[in-house]
Amino acid sequence: MMRLKSLGVRLVIATIVPLLLVTVMLYPIFRTHLETRLDSSRQGATTLLNAEHDALLHDMNESFNQVLAVADLPILRRHLRNVLAGDEGEATLDPLAAMLETLATHFGRYTRLVLIDMTGEELLEAGSRMLPYPTGIRYAQSGVFRGTERLPPRGLYVSAPRLGESRREGKLVTTAVIDIATPVFGQDGQRLGMLLFTLDWHYLTASLPHAIDSGEGVRAVMVDDQGRWLLPNTEAGLRFGDSLAERYPHVWHDLSSQPQGEILLDDDLLQFRTQDIRAAAESNKVGMIVTPSASQPWRLGIVVPRPSLAGLLAENPWQIAVLALIYLLSVIVGVLWVLSLHRQRYLRRQAMGFSREAQHLARESRQYASEVQDLYENAPCGYHSLDRDGRIVKINRTELEWLGYRADEVIDKQHYRDFVTPGTRAAFDNAFQGVLSARQEGAAECVLMCRDGTRLPVAIQATAQVIEGQFQYSRATVFDLSERKQLEARLAEQAMVDPLTGLWNRRYLKGQAAKELARACRSGTSLSLIVIDLDHFKRINDTHGHDVGDLILQSFADTARAQLREGDTLCRMGGEEFIVLLPDTAPEKAMQVAERLRLAISATPAEVEADAVATGRLAYTASLGLARVALDEASLEPAIKRADEGLYAAKNAGRNRVHWHTG
Ligand code: GH3
Ligand code: MG
Ligand code: MG
Repeated sequence: MMRLKSLGVRLVIATIVPLLLVTVMLYPIFRTHLETRLDSSRQGATTLLNAEHDALLHDMNESFNQVLAVADLPILRRHLRNVLAGDEGEATLDPLAAMLETLATHFGRYTRLVLIDMTGEELLEAGSRMLPYPTGIRYAQSGVFRGTERLPPRGLYVSAPRLGESRREGKLVTTAVIDIATPVFGQDGQRLGMLLFTLDWHYLTASLPHAIDSGEGVRAVMVDDQGRWLLPNTEAGLRFGDSLAERYPHVWHDLSSQPQGEILLDDDLLQFRTQDIRAAAESNKVGMIVTPSASQPWRLGIVVPRPSLAGLLAENPWQIAVLALIYLLSVIVGVLWVLSLHRQRYLRRQAMGFSREAQHLARESRQYASEVQDLYENAPCGYHSLDRDGRIVKINRTELEWLGYRADEVIDKQHYRDFVTPGTRAAFDNAFQGVLSARQEGAAECVLMCRDGTRLPVAIQATAQVIEGQFQYSRATVFDLSERKQLEARLAEQAMVDPLTGLWNRRYLKGQAAKELARACRSGTSLSLIVIDLDHFKRINDTHGHDVGDLILQSFADTARAQLREGDTLCRMGGEEFIVLLPDTAPEKAMQVAERLRLAISATPAEVEADAVATGRLAYTASLGLARVALDEASLEPAIKRADEGLYAAKNAGRNRVHWHTG
């Protein structure tokens, strides 16, 4: 769940980051492109602005020259003189009126051409034919009159553009007009009157780019020094005379604060410059130009659409397609990258899991191997491997400890059979041959010779390690038999010991007799034999009970054992009959032993339980028969028989006595 969530987040990032990167990469390109476009727009605007400026200046200059030229006409001066002279000027009025009318028609741009005398009376008016002739307008209080009356020769008064009337196609229409007036002087320099040309302002500004709006959004801007709109009504709702300063204070602020510059509007670019018509006086025959206050300078401007990114793209739809393709490709690359990373991460995690598992297994197998090694080394039995020659190639610690050697002292150095006692070596060799043979196995009970000289009985079981029919080495398990041997010895001993008295039994005597006979024969020494039978034992049993009888038998064993030598063999032959075999003992000497025995027995009462005998001690006696073992006899039987006869004699003689049967 966490992984899915993080994949989701990564995919979102993989979508956003390429988009951002592509945008960051493309932005400078578009930005440069846009700047180039802006520069070219700017250049276009500058060109248009200069053209606008030049056209207006040209038209104004043309009008100024026309006004000045007319003011210089002799007929005009003459007419004014005639009027001054009190003459109504009838002689000059009509030709002058006709001339002015012709001028008005010819130039087209003037709405009225007016001649005014020095008192402000209108003398003649041409251009507005519908009005009475003359109109009778008095100019004495007008700005035009005041502005012109003191002007020097060739001086001009230029009014601010204002709303007035114009005759168009025979109709009077309200339009913007501008007055241009100049004083008229006589040849003698006398001020005769003034000439006023009213110019159709919109006719004049018609040539400005706003009128020839090419549909590319190019518009002209023109305001006076107060920020009043000087061009015809616009689509944006600006009417002639409206205050741009009020409508667009920020634009006006920039416009009015510098002589020329550029204003970036929301969607447009406005380039502007000031145009002071008064400066035209310098480059003309015009003397001076006077304008009403706050009329000049004008601000001329050109608005061109400002290039935009959307506009640029819209120009070439394939650009949008390419851009979309680039974005799409970048997102696809991003997403594929993230998916591949995700896959890699998954695989890496899986690989790590495998490696952990492998490590775990390796650890387990190492542990297992060390456990096996430990088991091998410290097993309760010995392990060894021998090569074909019987040389030790591998041996475990247990067996090394038994033998008392270090591994480096035996491995590849010792033959195993050298550790086997000569007595058991044949069995070992036989078993090893079995391992080397087709049987591939062998077993033997051997005795090993340890370093400290001790002998260790072992059972060896070996098999052959064969690879592709080739004997490699033997593998043997060695069991310590010493305990078993001891047990066996103990059992064998137990089979030859009388359990009641702890004395040897008849079977032991038989085995011992052969050895003693052989030894006596070898050494040539005497071997004697004493037969002992307790007296009236039946009676003791009957009187005191069988248990007391047993106690007496045990007491006898102790007493008799104490009287005998190390090498003497005392056996219980059955019931209350015993035999003592005395090696290296002549009969005379044996007689002394028998006598000593008889005395000790009779002098040593058996200790019995108090309820059986009041004193707790019960005396008893024994009769003994003695015989010499003849060295040429194969067994003890003849000697025993002779001794029995002696015993019989002793019984008959009254018991508690020794009889040597010499027969
Ligand atoms: P004698 O002086 O002539 O030898 O007389 P005796 O009573 O000893 O005669 P005998 O040798 O015939 O008797 C042996 C008796 O010993 C018979 C038997 O009950 C007894 N006896 C044999 N073995 C044991 C034994 O292990 N324990 C006990 N308590 N009595 C035994
Ligand atoms: Mg008896
Ligand atoms: Mg007896």
